[in-house]
Amino acid sequence: MNRDEFKTGPGGYDLPTDVEPGEPELLEAFDRWVHTAYPNRERTGCPGRSVLMALALAKEKFEDEYTLTHIGRCAACLDDLKQIKRELTEAGSSR
Ligand SMILES: [Zn+2]
Repeated sequence: MNRDEFKTGPGGYDLPTDVEPGEPELLEAFDRWVHTAYPNRERTGCPGRSVLMALALAKEKFEDEYTLTHIGRCAACLDDLKQIKRELTEAGSSR
């Protein structure tokens, strides 16, 4: 899959990890697809948790093309990112 398809997708959303509310099914389908196509149990080429954290915290567009592309093809990072977002939501739900 090409990242540009997400960038210019129907909702105009940028990343599968930042889908608009109301599109959870789309995100879930993407999630399932990545786990099937790219389980990446060896964590090959993973940018690391600190980079995922930076991505989760980024308010505007995240500019690291390599990381964005990688996450779209790495179920392990996708899981990490979900975990980080969950932690952030629990830690700072007042925001
Ligand atoms: Zn990864």
